[in-house]
Amino acid sequence: MDKHFDVIVVGAGNGGLAAAANTAKAGLKTLLLEKHNIPGGCATSFRRGRFEFEPSLHELCSVGTADKPDLVYKVFDDLGAKPNWCYETGHLFRAIVKGENGYDVRLEAGIEDFCNSVDAAVPGSKASVRKFVDLKPKIDAAIDYIYATKGNPNGLVMLLKHSDFMRTAGHSVEQVMTACGIPEKAQNIICTYWGYLGVPTDELNAMHFLNMLYGYMVDGAAMPKHRSHELSLSLIDVIQKHGGEVWYNSEVTQFLYNDDGSVAGVVANEEKLYSKEVISNVIPHNVFNMSQLDKIPEQNLKLANAREFGISVVTIYLGLDCTAEELGLEDYTVFIMGHPNPRVQHDTRAEDGLYIVNCLNNVIPDSSPEGTCTLFFTMPIFGHDVPKDLKPQDYKKYKNDLAKKYIEDAEKVLGISIMPHIEEISVATPVTFARYLGTPEGTIYGYKLSGWDNLMARIAGEKADYAIPGLNFCGGHYIRGDGYSCAYIMGDTVAKKVVKRLKGGA
Ligand SMILES: Cc1cc2nc3c(=O)[nH]c(=O)nc-3n(C[C@H](O)[C@H](O)[C@H](O)COP(=O)(O)OP(=O)(O)OC[C@H]3O[C@@H](n4cnc5c(N)ncnc54)[C@H](O)[C@@H]3O)c2cc1C
Repeated sequence: MDKHFDVIVVGAGNGGLAAAANTAKAGLKTLLLEKHNIPGGCATSFRRGRFEFEPSLHELCSVGTADKPDLVYKVFDDLGAKPNWCYETGHLFRAIVKGENGYDVRLEAGIEDFCNSVDAAVPGSKASVRKFVDLKPKIDAAIDYIYATKGNPNGLVMLLKHSDFMRTAGHSVEQVMTACGIPEKAQNIICTYWGYLGVPTDELNAMHFLNMLYGYMVDGAAMPKHRSHELSLSLIDVIQKHGGEVWYNSEVTQFLYNDDGSVAGVVANEEKLYSKEVISNVIPHNVFNMSQLDKIPEQNLKLANAREFGISVVTIYLGLDCTAEELGLEDYTVFIMGHPNPRVQHDTRAEDGLYIVNCLNNVIPDSSPEGTCTLFFTMPIFGHDVPKDLKPQDYKKYKNDLAKKYIEDAEKVLGISIMPHIEEISVATPVTFARYLGTPEGTIYGYKLSGWDNLMARIAGEKADYAIPGLNFCGGHYIRGDGYSCAYIMGDTVAKKVVKRLKGGA
């Protein structure tokens, strides 16, 4: 007999989990299908020996606290999910640029401390940095007004009351920073964060960057006590508590369509499953490849084809037989760069651009067994940066060479000894992420948010985005773009719209 649901969610990544938790909690008959045997997608954990590693999360922004909840905290709290949030208080990051024009700087959290720490590195820059940072609440006010007018703001009100928004909205981070009078060195230091978004700051929309910067600066970077797997499990609990079904080892292989072009359901485990609405946590490219192409409006295919795949990463996970203190590393996040300029860092990414070293024990001391610590190296590169002629038999050497190169570099730059302490090591590349997440080119960030497809353009053009009746998208590939916060918020937002439609609302 055919199986029918109100909602089928495809993929149990952050977006899919938040979506399924919402629809189940609203009383809709919900089925969540995940191809792996565990939930989370990027938000998971894995074990090697006596270590449980965090595979992806460096820092979550826009979380906030119980007293001052921000968007992500609210998503979890409203659903009744209660992860143990930990925070990196005080510091934001340490930025080290190697070579002649190099520097070694620590940026602090909190607006005042942040501006002071940039000023300490670049004397006289404080007022200009403050001007830049202070744009954020003004932009928020403009966006609130635009939402209040249901996307039809009065031009005169925008010009008179929200002139900062009008001056900022269409510009890159570097254009806005330059307009604020921020000296080049201070720009470079602040722009270190491009490494988290995968788009260099001469190309990245200023509001997008400010959003992330402000989130970390004001709330502090957050992470769950027991790796991101804890976040995923907390949402699985919500889904199951409210009667939702979660099927693991259930890869969706086909999307089913009605004659009128609306989505009817999916095929998983060779079984046809029907629903009133489908929410896809899977990137549109893959969904369309699993669909009858004549059912996809041409404009939707063109949109997907026009978008560029976002960044992927090489990661190295190390379990060390010494503590962070014995190692001599007191920071949680260190960015190490070959050149001060973000564009150069981006363009030389596969050689000596930018990499991040995280030591989770410096935020969560007992995140590894007593007397040990873990290190997590991340190098942003694109899937197409992996050598095209790399043969399967040479892949292990490719990974080993990368690990050796970056570990030796970090030892030199940080003045610490890592190699003799390695007890466990694991290396992942875009190939790993392509295989695990199933994304084209191993993108971990969906589509690149830049140029015509920047964050502001996506938000403004939301109605012109994918429009197939009964098919909804959520996750890092969708409107708000990449990252944990955006994926949770998008899953939450999209599911609420579905609930409203199915329960007799708009
Ligand atoms: C190494 C690394 C570091 C990162 N660092 C950060 C960070 O510090 N901060 C931050 O905010 N973000 C970070 N990110 C990005 C963040 O993890 C992602 O943007 C976000 O988790 C994407 O969520 P998503 O909802 O799009 O789902 P994904 O994680 O992409 O999950 C999609 C799910 O769908 C499943 N799936 C795919 N195809 C099918 C199918 N056909 N049938 C059934 N299931 C399917 C997959 O198995 C997966 O579980 C990082 C990512 C990585 C990999």
